[in-house]
Amino acid sequence: MLDSIIVGYGLAGFHYAWQMKQKQKEFVIISNPIQAASRNAAGILNPTVLKRYTMAWNGIQFFDYALPYYKSIESELNTIFFDELPIHRHFYKSVEQNDWLVASQQEGLSSFLNPKVQRVTDLSLKKNEGFGILKHLGKLNINLLLNTFKERQEDDCFKDEIIDYKALKIYKDKICYKDIVAKNIIFCEGYGLKQNPWFDYLPLIGSKGEYLIIKAPKLSSIQIIKGPVFISPLKEDLFWVGASFSQDDKTDTPTENGKAWLLDKLEALLTTPYEIVKHAAAVRPTVADRRPLLGVHPVHSNLYAFNGLGTRGVLMAPLLSQWLFDFIEKDKQIPNEVVIDRFESYFSNPKIKDV
Ligand SMILES: Cc1cc2nc3c(=O)[nH]c(=O)nc-3n(C[C@H](O)[C@H](O)[C@H](O)COP(=O)(O)OP(=O)(O)OC[C@H]3O[C@@H](n4cnc5c(N)ncnc54)[C@H](O)[C@@H]3O)c2cc1C
Repeated sequence: MLDSIIVGYGLAGFHYAWQMKQKQKEFVIISNPIQAASRNAAGILNPTVLKRYTMAWNGIQFFDYALPYYKSIESELNTIFFDELPIHRHFYKSVEQNDWLVASQQEGLSSFLNPKVQRVTDLSLKKNEGFGILKHLGKLNINLLLNTFKERQEDDCFKDEIIDYKALKIYKDKICYKDIVAKNIIFCEGYGLKQNPWFDYLPLIGSKGEYLIIKAPKLSSIQIIKGPVFISPLKEDLFWVGASFSQDDKTDTPTENGKAWLLDKLEALLTTPYEIVKHAAAVRPTVADRRPLLGVHPVHSNLYAFNGLGTRGVLMAPLLSQWLFDFIEKDKQIPNEVVIDRFESYFSNPKIKDV
């Protein structure tokens, strides 16, 4: 009997599998290989909220765990996944320089915001009133990480398919799925959780993000630019540009409106020529109260959810995966802010959710 079946192979599924691997647990991952927010994300690790100049919820604790964790994965898989890159917060007006200076003195933010405002004009950017530098940050090459880990596992460790919920048999002491038998099952389905018959009571909202990949040979690739959108360097003059945020449309189909919005922001920012190489979209697994979803099903003690990574999966997934692993394997409590028990009333009375 395996220890776990993991459903979904985005950041949540990967991180849970990594925890298991470290502790010599046996698992199989069943995942639809086609859709995943993780495979569309820029991968930026950022514990700050630059719009409001605050720290993200629990930002310091997540950050302090995540960075060394990614470094240890790199050394174990002998591959570099994390690019340490500064984020340059672009200023449109000189008054923004003052806001930056004030923010850089605040507790938490002071670890990341370099107080020295850079007044140098960047010729590739329009309306340039200098920029502030966020240090110690960077971006994770999520696709490389997911692909590398998958390649290094035994073939029978991955099943590339959409799970057939009807074929899942739940017993008190085991879970059976076709010819697989395991002690428990961890659902890491991102926005796909909406289709899950056991966890669809959870208030997953979903927020669609559209982005572009552009080719801009004259744009510098030594930093991530943060203006009205992020511009994050990929390879060979390619840049990730995004993302939009919509809770009206929950499909992963890119739209003309989304593209027009992105181009409007880009035109307001860039002076250098560029060509659009790709336009795509995915749905982020965001939650009504903006906190992750971790825990066990109210009735079935061997069904677990790992979801709600929202807009910050790269930052939060490492520590969350450890919390969930310790809960399942060592009976340690999950922090109240993220445990799904907070929505138990939605389970017993699903109508509450609609009020
Ligand atoms: C455009 C965009 C940009 C983003 N940029 C960033 C960023 O820069 N930094 C950051 O930290 N976060 C970013 N995010 C958010 C980040 O992508 C998410 O927080 C994170 O990827 C969610 O991971 P997940 O594993 O929960 O879900 P997903 O990555 O969506 O993975 C879920 C997996 O489960 C599979 N699945 C679902 N249902 C089933 C089923 N029934 N059977 C089998 N498989 C199933 C899916 O196909 C998928 O493979 C961005 C998101 C978007 C959309």
